[in-house]
Amino acid sequence: MQKGNISVQTENIFPIIKQFLYSDREVFLRELVSNAVDATTKLKTLAKRGEVQGEIGDTTIEILIDESAKTLTIRDRGIGMTEEEVNKYLNQVAFSSAQEFLDKYKDEGNIIGHFGLGFYSAFMVAKRVEVLTKSYKEGAKPVKWSCEGDPEYIIEDVEKDFRGTDVVLYIENEGDKEFLERNRIEDLLNKYAKFLPVPIQFGTKTETRYEGEGDEEQEINEEVPNIINNPNPIWKKQPTELTDDDYKDMYNELYPFSPAPLFWIHLNVDHPFNLTGILYFPKIGNSIAEQRNKIQLYSNQVYVTDNVKEIVPEFLTLLHGVIDSPDIPLNVSRSYLQSDSNVRKITSHITKKVADKLNELFNKDRKGFEEKWSDLGVFIKYGMITEEKFYDRAQKFTLLKNTEGEHFTIEEYKAKVKDLQTDKYDKVIFLYTNQINEHHSYIEVAKGRNYDVLVFDNILDNHFMQHLEMKLRDVTFVRVDSDTVDMLIQKDEKNESVLSEQEQETVKSAFEVFTKETAGASVQLKALSPEDAPVVITKPEFLRRMMEMQALQGNSFGGGFPDSYNVVVNSNHPLVADKLLKLEGEERNDLAKYLYDLALLNQGMLKGKGLSNFVQKALKFVN
Ligand code: ADP
Repeated sequence: MQKGNISVQTENIFPIIKQFLYSDREVFLRELVSNAVDATTKLKTLAKRGEVQGEIGDTTIEILIDESAKTLTIRDRGIGMTEEEVNKYLNQVAFSSAQEFLDKYKDEGNIIGHFGLGFYSAFMVAKRVEVLTKSYKEGAKPVKWSCEGDPEYIIEDVEKDFRGTDVVLYIENEGDKEFLERNRIEDLLNKYAKFLPVPIQFGTKTETRYEGEGDEEQEINEEVPNIINNPNPIWKKQPTELTDDDYKDMYNELYPFSPAPLFWIHLNVDHPFNLTGILYFPKIGNSIAEQRNKIQLYSNQVYVTDNVKEIVPEFLTLLHGVIDSPDIPLNVSRSYLQSDSNVRKITSHITKKVADKLNELFNKDRKGFEEKWSDLGVFIKYGMITEEKFYDRAQKFTLLKNTEGEHFTIEEYKAKVKDLQTDKYDKVIFLYTNQINEHHSYIEVAKGRNYDVLVFDNILDNHFMQHLEMKLRDVTFVRVDSDTVDMLIQKDEKNESVLSEQEQETVKSAFEVFTKETAGASVQLKALSPEDAPVVITKPEFLRRMMEMQALQGNSFGGGFPDSYNVVVNSNHPLVADKLLKLEGEERNDLAKYLYDLALLNQGMLKGKGLSNFVQKALKFVN
């Protein structure tokens, strides 16, 4: 037996380890299992080179819980360590790297993954750690190293008949008991070890098979090893080896019970950095928040985090899937990550790949692309608003949908509407609606002039629209209800009113009897065509957008401007020009009120008491 002191500069490093990011104690398991995987992979590499005597046999890693002894054991059949190596790796190297790590980051609570704490993270949960190990080297003598969580360690001889290493954690503190529970360990293995490249066994499970036929049939129950991981995840394979079902199965494995993804991108880069992975386009619909932050980051198949904000551009956090790269520095702070040149290259590589894939889909199968647009649209628009480079690529395949359900690229659409919808300032006016049902009559009126109307009803569309206006410069978006149809596209023509000035005043004041009860409503007289509606409610584009912005910033309408709108009276309509003017007093006001209510109804603004009164009046009218 040999006693010694672990060579450290700081005597009390153990208390620091124990406290280190308390909430993340669970990562000890990832560290130890990763070490076991490393030891196994090294053994296989040596065997391939012919440097291991005999067959290497089964190399399954085992995780064992012994409740009565209160131990958790991580057992591998990897290269093991000689006594000399134990001295070197556990007593010196491991410690110095742990120390360095802690010195560097102890003030920084913000570290991705906490890689690098390594073997010594075992002391976050164990009061005592024993390592029983036997090297693959011929004639190696097995040894046991033990340490009680202080700088003192013991190395002694031990019996161990097979090659490899057992790391035994003695878990005694009440607060650490969870790590002796099967379910907790199983969850952790699922989280951190699901795709490790060596089979990992956790207990056994019962498998049922049937033998014989008919009456002879027998049910046979067998205990088989419970392998918790998939050592060959498809992202490590070549796309040519894989079928669509392989990708869909993988998606299911990552996100059970989610609807099937729309399509995917297999990432496979060797140079100038190493990165593999699969990114899936989920069905997004209109629920951005739910879909976010589901990409998992791995380093050589070891799970690191599902927080990839610094590695992929914001809009790509809507994608799902896996990124696996040993070249993303993991034991560094987030702010450092953003400035790391590898990370920046990875970011722009992924952005480009995503744009290329979308472009390919668009070119290869335009119809399919259009069908998926409601899901893709959110994602693409988000990308265009937030990533300059993505905008440049995406403007070729981003689609605009009109009320007929037809899709156009921006260029196609401009060409389509240019002739009729260019205003006197040479801007092409893109008319749109965000509520196809509520704006029905406005849309019909616009169509009556052979205008086309786009549907912009997505949660991001307000921003997207403004972004396009800024980018395209010669395009302005105008909502169909923002003005009377003659003014939607401002040209220099004018209709003359058939009414005298005095008559116009009379009409105006008949309406003002009612509008003055409502803050924000103002009456305007306009000489529209006699075929146009007698009264139209319009909400001027500029003012409405300002209010929407205010609402987005959390200012309620009540506190800001009132909901303002124009009551545009068509002085050329027969009901106004002939009928209303000929009536007097109550009767004139009644007609004005009736026409006003109809216009409100048309804009979906007649509600509550106003609507009931209107219906009552209309019923009387039929009688
Ligand atoms: P790292 O894995 O980052 O090198 P660790 O502190 O986790 O740091 O481990 C230190 C060293 O101890 C490893 O590099 C390895 O040489 C040795 N080691 C740890 N666990 C095992 C194991 N299960 N089998 C063989 N060697 C191991």
